Amino acid sequence: MSTSYYDLDQETLFIVSQSFKALSDPTRIRILHLLANKECSVGEIVEQLELGQSTVSHQLRFLKNLRLVKSRRAGTTIYYSPQDEHVLEILEKTIEHATHD
Ligand SMILES: [Zn+2]
Repeated sequence: MSTSYYDLDQETLFIVSQSFKALSDPTRIRILHLLANKECSVGEIVEQLELGQSTVSHQLRFLKNLRLVKSRRAGTTIYYSPQDEHVLEILEKTIEHATHD
């Protein structure tokens, strides 16, 4: 057991590693990147990214469980967007880091 003030507790470590795991899949990155720019329904994601409906539904559930994506109902349609500013920042910073010189 670590007693360092600077060490992370078990629960935080678990959630952080799960979050990175969620972001380690190319399809999930594409979905999040799309949602970062525009709130979308499942159908819109399917159309924009040319993915299967069940793939999109499955990945959205995964992202929602890890609090990376949130949803809002408008009539019979459910719209998805990134959970909060932090998710947007993580995505944006990682893309920047991956593409700069
Ligand atoms: Zn960098």
